[in-house]
Amino acid sequence: TLPLHELDPDVAAAVDAELHRQQSTLEMIASENFAPVAVMEAQGSVLTNKYAEGYPGRRYYGGCEHVDVVEQIAIDRVKELFGAEHANVQPHSGAQANAAAMFALLKPGDTIMGLNLAHGGHLTHGMKINFSGRLYDVVAYHVDPETGLVDMAEVERLAKESRPKLIVAGWSAYPRQLDFAAFRRIADEVGAYLMVDMAHFAGLVAAGLHPSPVPHAHVVTTTTHKTLGGPRGGVILSTAELAKKINSAVFPGQQGGPLEHVIAAKAVSFKVAASEEFKERQRRTLEGARILAERLMRDDVRAAGVDVLSGGTDVHLVLVDLRNSELDGQQAEDRLHEVGITVNRNAVPNDPRPPMVTSGLRIGTPALATRGFTAEDFAEVADVIAEVLKAASPSGKADVEVLRARVTALAEQHPLYSGLSG
Ligand code: PLP
Repeated sequence: TLPLHELDPDVAAAVDAELHRQQSTLEMIASENFAPVAVMEAQGSVLTNKYAEGYPGRRYYGGCEHVDVVEQIAIDRVKELFGAEHANVQPHSGAQANAAAMFALLKPGDTIMGLNLAHGGHLTHGMKINFSGRLYDVVAYHVDPETGLVDMAEVERLAKESRPKLIVAGWSAYPRQLDFAAFRRIADEVGAYLMVDMAHFAGLVAAGLHPSPVPHAHVVTTTTHKTLGGPRGGVILSTAELAKKINSAVFPGQQGGPLEHVIAAKAVSFKVAASEEFKERQRRTLEGARILAERLMRDDVRAAGVDVLSGGTDVHLVLVDLRNSELDGQQAEDRLHEVGITVNRNAVPNDPRPPMVTSGLRIGTPALATRGFTAEDFAEVADVIAEVLKAASPSGKADVEVLRARVTALAEQHPLYSGLSG
């Protein structure tokens, strides 16, 4: 019954320090967000104690009457939110959702196609040492080096040559929308399943601000913690026809007991995602990303060798190309960290620098939009980023104190988790 601060001051201190970091810096990692307090409350509830192998109404354990209610609410809400015929809310993460979806549809040795990791794909879309690359025969497609857009002619050519069993459409670092109808046409031509991994843009889809993959794909996977703004976790949506295969691939195929406390938190976040307030937040997310791209494409920033991949963005992130800059991805990430802005370095297509260094940055707006950032605030943070990236040479280093003060002012204008201790 002791509270965390008394039972384990060491862990409590680290949690408090993390709360302070989130409150005092500007979070611009494109895959992160701030979960509402109610979501964290559900996630920190007594549901963590309950074993519930199976599905609502068909469990392998007694005492599941209340978690059944929670899981059914989560299923119903997410089906409604995305207009899906079937939903499985049990995957512990996005990677496990993808593993289970592939397990449902494929046998080891089958061929899959996915976007190359260095071109914006995810590890689970066929990276060599990931399960997807180990179990399946991977044919990767790419973005066109000129336009930065997925090369659909290449997708079609590779599909016809390799006749995959599954085509994965989706990305972790790509600033534009995919043509799901074109992917489905190609999949149908070669007899493949189409799986869309909408982990990054699910929140935009829920808000009606991005085309939905659900009408086009056999299976759609997502995380619940990125633009969707819920707890860390995964979901699989599918046609009714594939429901049984998907469910048995998750349990008992891939997982044991579901995390019912996380499923409760997912349910809460799906309720939030159906609200007007959520739509308005996603609108600011997109607007912020557009403002960021525009401000980083100004002549004075370009003169320092900074480019924006694909010349802009249609989503919640901007990919900065530093191939012509003196700063590499690691240095740029470190310098932004110094002024209180958190981003991650990211390989750009055909990156000349090694993967641990890279020549790019991925900068996202979901977390700041959740914090309440307006167009004006996004312009200000974009200008701070521009100042840091412009001062490329070591001697031309930006005035860290001044920029840090501008970041602090923005953070203070938009308090985060004010009710929480720390
Ligand atoms: N799919 C995509 C497109 C992602 O970007 C990510 C996470 O970065 C994942 C799946 C994996 O999600 P998780 O980190 O929850 O396993």
